[in-house]
Amino acid sequence: MTVSVVLFTSDLRLHDNPVLSAAVRASDQVVPLFVADDGVRAAGFDAPNRRAFLADCLRDLDAGLRKRGGHLVVRSGAVVDEVCAVVRAVGADRVHLAGGVSGYAAGRERRLREALEPIGCGLSVHDAVVTALAPGTVTPTDRDHYTVFTPFFRRWSEEGVREVAPTPRKIAVPDITAGSLPRRSQVEGVSPGLVEGGETAGRSQLHKWLADGVTEYEETHDDLAGDATSRLSPFLHFGALSPVELVQLARRAGSPGAEAFVRQLAWRDFHYQVLAARPAAAHADYRPRGDRWRDDEHEVAAWRAGRTGYPLVDAAMRQLAHEGWMHNRGRMLVASFLTKTLYADWRTGARHFLDLLVDGDVANNQMNWQWVAGTGTDTRPNRVLNPVVQGKRFDADGSYVRRWVPELADLERKFIHEPWKLDDAARADLDYPEPIVDLAEGRARFEQARGV
Ligand code: FAD
Repeated sequence: MTVSVVLFTSDLRLHDNPVLSAAVRASDQVVPLFVADDGVRAAGFDAPNRRAFLADCLRDLDAGLRKRGGHLVVRSGAVVDEVCAVVRAVGADRVHLAGGVSGYAAGRERRLREALEPIGCGLSVHDAVVTALAPGTVTPTDRDHYTVFTPFFRRWSEEGVREVAPTPRKIAVPDITAGSLPRRSQVEGVSPGLVEGGETAGRSQLHKWLADGVTEYEETHDDLAGDATSRLSPFLHFGALSPVELVQLARRAGSPGAEAFVRQLAWRDFHYQVLAARPAAAHADYRPRGDRWRDDEHEVAAWRAGRTGYPLVDAAMRQLAHEGWMHNRGRMLVASFLTKTLYADWRTGARHFLDLLVDGDVANNQMNWQWVAGTGTDTRPNRVLNPVVQGKRFDADGSYVRRWVPELADLERKFIHEPWKLDDAARADLDYPEPIVDLAEGRARFEQARGV
């Protein structure tokens, strides 16, 4: 009788999960294991929105395993100790794991290998589980990773993704205590509008998206009020959906919208391959520009609270607080506003995002923050987004602002992105702040600091 352990990490799914499929194929019995890892908690990644979404994912995974004759095994503690204890308890000869890309994931893999070897257990690490292509699959000739997206995307597109792995029909689990599943209701501080997590919810969102969203994606993805992006990012973050399966399905759909969607999935892979090659980019400038950030406490507090006096910035920040998610156009604008107009450190903003974002992950969050701050991979590092111009362009009638900033809901269209242009009496009636910074002054300060 052979037994193996599947250590679930960022791959909380049954469909297209090469880790699970390989273990089921190779062993008579499998322990599907999830460890609520002290290390992740200690690193500050255990924010309420993600903890709640994770609880949904684990419950759904357990339900799916039960339909196939198995169940999830849950432990809590130091991941390496917990895995070794399970290996010993069931006499497993192999642990299967998805290859990760962060410094933490690489360290976990190394520590597991070192701890498992002396107890006679092997470790199989499976690639292209968390990403469509494993980091390092495509590289330029002169370095270990791509530093610019366009050439990366060209090579990435030429490389075929792997076949979708079969979904196991039956899973035999040896006799072992299941442990208790966390509940979403136990988590405090969750955003009121947080979506439901889990593979079942993710697949239903995916099918809806492929049936009636993706075709128009190319034209509508920047329309803030239209909310016409896939909203699949949290499911991708937890691995409740597979990026490989998404690429395969979208390519099959074949529309210009589907191609644009695949391009966004490639951005995700792009950031992962940067972080895999440069783990320090999680906290250090990827391309230092000699910045001496200001981090004005009051300005940063106003930004966090969605009270900067710039309607589009405030709308996006309030969406983040309410949903634990923000539209990509909003993310770019608020990040540009913080790092360039207020000239505050991108790490300050990235931390706030990680505290709230349900899809918050080190690679995509930190590398996108660095991209916007101009310390990352953007080839135009000094561009500054203007909230009024962005508002007129991507929220022309102000519907997004009206939705998230109710104080401004009744303003005429011509004032919605510039409420400071109202006459004094009308302004006095609004419970809405004056702009905390003059855009031209902020820009001049930034450009002077950068020597532009
Ligand atoms: P869609 O537009 O439907 O795109 C499909 C998928 O492509 C997304 O789900 C996502 O996985 C991927 N994708 C799209 N845009 C990007 C991008 N710029 N970089 C990487 N992947 C992308 N994304 C995260 O998943 N986690 C984060 O922590 C995160 N932090 C961000 C911080 C900042 C400052 C910025 C500017 C962007 C950040 N993004 C992050 C990228 C992007 O905003 C989100 O992936 C996207 O808004 C998710 O919505 P969606 O699923 O509807 O995206």
